[in-house]
Amino acid sequence: MENKSSNFIRNIIMEDLKAGTVSQIVTRFPPEPNGYLHIGHAKSICLNFELADEFKGKTNLRFDDTNPVKEDAEYVEAIKEDVKWLGFEWDGLFFASEYFDEMYRRAVLLIRKGKAYVDDLSAEEIREMRGTLTEPGKESPYRNRSVEENLDLFERMRKGEFADGAKVLRAKIDMASPNINLRDPVLYRISHATHHNTGNAWCIYPMYDYAHPLEDAIEGVTHSLCTLEFEDHRPLYDWVIRECEMEHVSRQYEFGRLNLTNTVMSKRFLKQLVDEKVVDGWDDPRMPTISGLRRRGYTPESIRNFVREVGVSKTSGTVDARMLEHFVREDLKLKAPRTMAVLRPLKVVITNYPEDQVEMLDAEVNPENLEMGIRQIPFSREIYIEQDDFMENPPSKYFRLFPGNEVRLKHAYFITCNDVIKDEQGRVKELHCTYDPETKSGSGFTGRKVKGTIHWVDAKQALPVEFRLYDSLLLEDKDEEKSLLDSLNPNSLEILQGFVEPNMKDAKPLDKFQFFRHGYFSVDPKYTTPERIVFNQIVSLKSSFEL
Ligand code: ATP
Ligand code: MG
Ligand code: MG
Repeated sequence: MENKSSNFIRNIIMEDLKAGTVSQIVTRFPPEPNGYLHIGHAKSICLNFELADEFKGKTNLRFDDTNPVKEDAEYVEAIKEDVKWLGFEWDGLFFASEYFDEMYRRAVLLIRKGKAYVDDLSAEEIREMRGTLTEPGKESPYRNRSVEENLDLFERMRKGEFADGAKVLRAKIDMASPNINLRDPVLYRISHATHHNTGNAWCIYPMYDYAHPLEDAIEGVTHSLCTLEFEDHRPLYDWVIRECEMEHVSRQYEFGRLNLTNTVMSKRFLKQLVDEKVVDGWDDPRMPTISGLRRRGYTPESIRNFVREVGVSKTSGTVDARMLEHFVREDLKLKAPRTMAVLRPLKVVITNYPEDQVEMLDAEVNPENLEMGIRQIPFSREIYIEQDDFMENPPSKYFRLFPGNEVRLKHAYFITCNDVIKDEQGRVKELHCTYDPETKSGSGFTGRKVKGTIHWVDAKQALPVEFRLYDSLLLEDKDEEKSLLDSLNPNSLEILQGFVEPNMKDAKPLDKFQFFRHGYFSVDPKYTTPERIVFNQIVSLKSSFEL
């Protein structure tokens, strides 16, 4: 399944290859290691890697690690794992911090050419003097320092003679430019912080707008793909490559960000959820992170197919989060074994079934994929059914179990409810039913029909397990005035203790199943122990979403 039609970047690449302006395409995925990757990043990853694959090009994984304060080696490892898990192999693995020497030399070149100067204004003064869309900016009083003075001050910035914020290096472009990004942007700032990769070797760090084009040019990136917010940074991107006299000229192209309904992807917010322990880590199954989706039970294929279907456009749109669910259902439909799971158990005693008898019933592992074979399910006198498959006083059109009614037990027999046993508080404790041996599933019995089919597990042999059911982290009708942390859904996690068929005892972390009538579930890798399997609900079976 490949959606190649609506990709304008692909068209640009084809034209470049045809015209011979580019002989082999090189793309890169450039995450800042300041958090875990989320589903939005998956769009950028798929786009970069798939385009390079298609045109026999190369893709680098490059850590854009130019801000020592927020970055960490933990994130580097997590990002590598997530890219690999999504199914991609990078050609080069690079760190922007490996280019600090070259970036510094190019900055010295800019100073020599009179294209950069050291400014003593504070960050706030620089912001104030930048002007607005309708008003030109004001030149800094330090703008006309001599080349010699600038060279000396920049070298001393590097040596650590000045405090954080005391000085910056700025490009000397045009304080009256209609594009505010060109009003003498800051190229370097002072930060006496320890860097995850370069340690204390540097105390000046390049800004994104200066560093990124150099990183791309150094690596020979041909098509540098980024999100739309950077569209009006493009003239600066081109300025840096030109004025720094880079041999290779990279070009920037912008595409629309991926946003999902009722989902916040900002790393700052996600990190806050982790730091304040609102969730159980970056890989909490409710998080929109790649690691969260993996732990929830999403497959790499489902994420790649989703991203492909969303396509690439020049506008940012918001995609219905249910579309992602649709793709995991599609992917698991033929792959996931079916099984019966009782999430909220109610005991049923089949009073006319012999005490010590156990029989093994045959059932297809996946009726939509018969190659997956047959499984065996034990059946005996005591079983569990779902609490809400019984009602003492049902409304009309309720076809499941109620006193006097007969239903089909999936893969087994018809049973009729005769007695309702209650505890001292009057709550239903168990049901006494009788079964009809003639009605065995697969026996060809046609004597009479029942309207309801319910699932069950054998009470003696079923495997006790934990189920974790999820709902959205954020309330649907969140109040825009309130902070996101005040808009959390208090019911986003429900934990239940129930049972699954005994043949599931060997299920491994991340094994996925379809629980009859309940949906898709995956074995949780964090909380599952040799004694007890914990299942994460991936998605329910159906949704109103149509592609
Ligand atoms: P955040 O705002 O969540 O911190 P970011 O853009 O700062 O994200 P980076 O690590 O810099 O995070 O992103 C790496 C790459 O992923 C960039 O090229 C960026 O454009 C892309 N990217 C990030 N978020 C999205 C998104 N929602 N849709 C598409 N691409 C994205
Ligand atoms: Mg970024
Ligand atoms: Mg960011």
